[in-house]
Amino acid sequence: MTHKEKAEQLLKHQYHCSQALFGAFAEDFDIDLKTAFKISTCFGGGMRQGGLCGCITGSLLVLGMAMGFYDAQDKELEIYGNKKTDEFIRRFTQQMNGLTNCRQILGRDISKPHEMAAIRQEGLILQHCPHAINISIDILESMLADYLKDIAETSIDLKDIPDNEHLRGALRNISKLHDFRKNVNNLIYASSKNIGFIQFDISKFKIVNDLYGEKFGDQVLEFIIEQLKIICQKDQFFVNLRGDIFMVVTEYDKEEDLVDFIRQIDSRIRCFKEVNLRLSYGVYSASDKTMELRQMEDRATMARRAAKKNILTNILFYKEQFKDSLYNRKFIEENMQAAISQRQFMMYLQPKYSITMERIVGAEALVRWHHPERGMIYPDNFIPIIEENGFIKKVDYYIWAEACRFIKRCLDAGLTPCPVSVNVSRVHLRDDACIGVLLDMINSSGIPKWLLELEITETADDQQISKKALQLKEEGFTLLMDDFGSGYSSLNILLETPFDVIKLDKKFIENMMVSAKGKLILEQVISMANKLDLGLLAEGVETEEQIALLKSIGCDHVQGYYYAKPMPEDEFFALLQKDGSRSSEAVRLL
Ligand code: C2E
Ligand code: CA
Ligand code: CA
Repeated sequence: MTHKEKAEQLLKHQYHCSQALFGAFAEDFDIDLKTAFKISTCFGGGMRQGGLCGCITGSLLVLGMAMGFYDAQDKELEIYGNKKTDEFIRRFTQQMNGLTNCRQILGRDISKPHEMAAIRQEGLILQHCPHAINISIDILESMLADYLKDIAETSIDLKDIPDNEHLRGALRNISKLHDFRKNVNNLIYASSKNIGFIQFDISKFKIVNDLYGEKFGDQVLEFIIEQLKIICQKDQFFVNLRGDIFMVVTEYDKEEDLVDFIRQIDSRIRCFKEVNLRLSYGVYSASDKTMELRQMEDRATMARRAAKKNILTNILFYKEQFKDSLYNRKFIEENMQAAISQRQFMMYLQPKYSITMERIVGAEALVRWHHPERGMIYPDNFIPIIEENGFIKKVDYYIWAEACRFIKRCLDAGLTPCPVSVNVSRVHLRDDACIGVLLDMINSSGIPKWLLELEITETADDQQISKKALQLKEEGFTLLMDDFGSGYSSLNILLETPFDVIKLDKKFIENMMVSAKGKLILEQVISMANKLDLGLLAEGVETEEQIALLKSIGCDHVQGYYYAKPMPEDEFFALLQKDGSRSSEAVRLL
């Protein structure tokens, strides 16, 4: 049931607006309805005398509970609380056209018993209060989503999430987070020892979810919580920050002791139901106890992110240079919007060649960011970040439109039609918009559909992605499986998703070329693709030796520095003009 439905139900059961409103959120704070009514009724009493609309008091209670304003000692929160209270009242007043007083809204004075009787008799509450309640709930949900975005380290847009389940689950966690922070603050204040912040998460947790199902993923998290309850003794605290990210805080004497403690955690949780998990631990040792708690937490986060990327160890202590990556992330988040509106993103094109025909058979569109001060920024430095916050959608839409425009430009110039492939981030495959967007672009640019090809990265089996890929295929798009052979290849995906072309990953080819066994595997993959009628393209081809081998085993199409690096559109256009003078027939990869 949504907050609005719950509130409406309570209102119909003759509860006042403040009770209905606070009651609708009770479950989010793990309080039972009875207690919620008691609290809101006490506040309601004061409200009646002043005539202030109960939706305001009810809503301020919700904000206070969610954001932890009940900690009287936390001055920082008090200031934040005042700001948020002001914001709520301002937005409420505006949307109610200035009506904030119960007497104005109902047209009667609820502090007088006979007026109250008339209110009941005339059913005024059910006539006027739902409007104020719904406005309050809308404002609350939007403020809480912003707040969650603020405290969660990534900026996932909660408004994109269709139901409020996510919001409600997150609210439940917040009160645990407040307790955790309070305990940690007390520990820092009271302890004379070192304090260690240990943050960890599960590497590739998304893949664990994809492979074994979300239920299994939830069981893993519950298992970790159970184990942490056993391991953590007095004055050792833990919290599940969000998803698969956990934080443990403990005091310690020597660094070795802290590492031993982490190993103890690791040995208990790294295996669940015979599935091995790789956990990455970031550690921050709080030597300067005057530093703000949030800053200490941030440092553990930076160390965890670095540990995730380290192949030699899964435990890393914070170093000052980790700040750079945080600054980089902040830079990207703060500049990405302007980059779109000021057209700083540019489409580069990398040709695809046929070895035997020695001519261009297509191109891949790759994004580049030309920042006025920083210069060229390569996709590996910003794509992972904008994939996390969803902004990749805008960048991809931009590049897709550029690719369509370029295809049209070639057609208008009478060049041999040249298929251009664009990258489709996994983020698109989780929502419904992308198919419509692609079709609109094809229609408005007036190009044939087959000239715009779509590259989708292969990953572990994911029903949702397979389904979306199938829809794209049914719409008539050509699908290329990107990065085949890197990481989590599963031949199953070839069964479920109707790809037209496999792009062999650069690393895969390199690895396979170093041994006779590897070459045999490569040969078999190519023969399998041929039998399945799948097109093939080798990526990242750099040497003559690679070209010779690929040619000998029947992989004719290649993309790589051996032939050409990605280049600006005009350069590629000139290349096509030169190339086209030798042949006039388009070559399809499949
Ligand atoms: P990808 O899709 O696998 O693209 C191929 C990458 O390999 C490109 O890197 C390309 O410049 C590079 N490459 C091509 N030939 C060679 C070679 O011979 N040697 C070496 N060492 N590298 C070669 P780039 O442009 O830096 O892009 C990196 C990744 O960023 C891409 O990998 C893709 O996953 C992502 N990306 C790039 N543009 C876009 C975009 O517009 N949208 C989305 N969603 N992702 C993009
Ligand atoms: Ca690609
Ligand atoms: Ca690739």
